Amino acid sequence: MSTGPLLDTFGRVATDLRVSLTDRCNLRCSYCMPAEGLDWLPGEEVLTDDEVVRLITVAVERLGVREVRFTGGEPLLRRGLPDIVRRTTALRPRPQTSITTNGLGLSRTAATLAEAGLDRVNVSLDTVRREDFATITRRDRLPDVVAGLAAASAAGLGPVKVNAVLMRGVNDDQAPELLRWCLARGYQLRFIEQMPLDAQHQWSRESMITAEEIFASLNAEFLLEPAEEPRGSAPAELFTVDGGVGTVGVIASVTRPFCGDCDRVRLTADGQVRNCLFARQESDLRAALRDGADDNEIADRWRVAMFGKRAGHGIDDLSFLQPVRPMSAIGG
Ligand code: SAM
Ligand code: SF4
Repeated sequence: MSTGPLLDTFGRVATDLRVSLTDRCNLRCSYCMPAEGLDWLPGEEVLTDDEVVRLITVAVERLGVREVRFTGGEPLLRRGLPDIVRRTTALRPRPQTSITTNGLGLSRTAATLAEAGLDRVNVSLDTVRREDFATITRRDRLPDVVAGLAAASAAGLGPVKVNAVLMRGVNDDQAPELLRWCLARGYQLRFIEQMPLDAQHQWSRESMITAEEIFASLNAEFLLEPAEEPRGSAPAELFTVDGGVGTVGVIASVTRPFCGDCDRVRLTADGQVRNCLFARQESDLRAALRDGADDNEIADRWRVAMFGKRAGHGIDDLSFLQPVRPMSAIGG
């Protein structure tokens, strides 16, 4: 049996697999997708549940993957999600499992997912003001997300994390309000700098809200102190709030990149391995699978795909080119 880690030329080892289960979504966050949506992947190109589980099995049993996060698009739109989670948590060594979701429908599925073995959820929520939510996501669904968060917490899918993106002139004055809201409910809030991964290619360095600005706005109302746990490969810089009433994280992917410690690898819904969010190349595991490759061959291809991972995302380089796939089609 071919075993051995997902190593690259810089000595990094990928142990955290992000699996996109669909490129479709029921929201239209303006920093992610255009109002009309995108040209979704044709059904036959999307991996079946069995194909997804087979690739995860190879990753866990042969490539040393220890954590599997399901994402998209919106992973809760994938009907087979509970079954995929159940089969993933039955693997040995048992990987940690989580989903990144917009929370729509989570109030109905949280208990089922917990029962299937899901460990944690990250719910994306950029504002707790209903009108602003409708503006940002182009759907008036804030109450559903709030209910989804509560259900996840009640189902034991914790610590429940909330991911927020701030946009200039839209919600950039709401960092303290979001933090108060999350602290009151026991959710761990993390702000994410906006990245050049929107389908519309409208991102600009000048208009993005930087980690520096987020800190300035939070420091005006809270006492933030670096949390003791080392950052390691976790992208969020973590802070305790007001002496320990909670924590808040900032993921400064653009202004303080953490590429040197990256331990991630991504699998798209159509079975392409990406060694980085910003990779310009992909490796087609779906074709290998459907051509009858055995697990050894798939593992070998996957290792080759990782080996060439670049040192960093290079957003600041003059030669930087945004990847062809947007975030929603890669798996955020
Ligand atoms: N639909 C799910 C959700 O929203 O959580 C999962 C997929 S979404 C692409 C994953 C995360 O990426 C979300 O937290 C979202 O806010 C974030 N995201 C999307 N576009 C982004 C961008 N251009 N820059 C930074 N984060 C982005
Ligand atoms: Fe959908 Fe998530 Fe993109 Fe929003 S960020 S449009 S919820 S995929």
